[in-house]
Amino acid sequence: MVLAQLGESISQAIHEMSNATIVDEKVLNDCLNEIARALLQADVQFKLVRDMVSNVKKKVNLNNLAAGLNKRKIIEKAIVNELCEMLDTGKPFFTPQKGKTNVVMFVGLQGSGKTTTCTKYAYYHQKKGWRPALVCADTFRAGAFDQLKQNATKAKIPYYGSHLESDPVKIAVEGVERFKKENHDLIIVDTSGRHKQEAALFEEMRQVFEATKPDLVIFVMDSSIGQAAFDQAQAFKQSVSVGAVVVTKMDGHAKGGGALIVAATKSPVIFIGTGEHMDQFEVFDAKQFILRLLG
Ligand code: GDP
Repeated sequence: MVLAQLGESISQAIHEMSNATIVDEKVLNDCLNEIARALLQADVQFKLVRDMVSNVKKKVNLNNLAAGLNKRKIIEKAIVNELCEMLDTGKPFFTPQKGKTNVVMFVGLQGSGKTTTCTKYAYYHQKKGWRPALVCADTFRAGAFDQLKQNATKAKIPYYGSHLESDPVKIAVEGVERFKKENHDLIIVDTSGRHKQEAALFEEMRQVFEATKPDLVIFVMDSSIGQAAFDQAQAFKQSVSVGAVVVTKMDGHAKGGGALIVAATKSPVIFIGTGEHMDQFEVFDAKQFILRLLG
């Protein structure tokens, strides 16, 4: 199943339930089975799907619902709530601490929006009174440093990088050290990507991670990648300890169903990218996301 269809399939199942003349056990079961099938086909973990179905059933006890209550609305609300729960990892995640230097490393495949997201993240915090700085340790993509420089200059954020040095670890360490000395409280390290998951990329990430000891690693994922999202997030998680996820290009057509799949990896989604511009960046809100997915 194409992932963009996930939201549509779920909406359709809810719609059919809503249009039933009488909402009884069978109609509810049919609706939940349809939703479960759509989620499983989109590679959402079996356990998450099973929990979702049984929680909705528990919350919507059709036999005990008082007459006159709008069963359709109650069921719909329970489904939306349970889908939100799926995105809730239940774990607190790291947020930068005032009064110390926070190092945040960004990882992701080439084209995911990593470099753009680094500046967005820096700009977001700068507006909140932080003193961010950007380090470009992406020596793989020609033009990566120029892009970061351009973005950083526009946002008036200090940056560090090199056109000559080819060792990403060296650049990362030098950049972090320099900005620590200059008392920046939020140092953001952009790393190399590749077109696909490959050993060289993960090895490089591990080395940059070891050398800079970041407080947080953020995995950047393009919302349109569909079912590959789960595998990709898992592969990154196995190489470095990913603490949070940013889902980009939510302004596109895919509606970001991939985030639902990433949820299965139990990494919290913290921000979403909603455009190419620096300020098109929003704190992730599970409910809004689900409502949008359902169209
Ligand atoms: P990187 O290779 O992962 O560093 O990716 P880039 O940051 O260079 O982004 C790749 C492309 O995606 C660029 O054209 C960005 O402008 C674009 N991009 C990044 N984030 C978003 C987003 O949230 N929405 C849209 N529409 N485009 C984005």
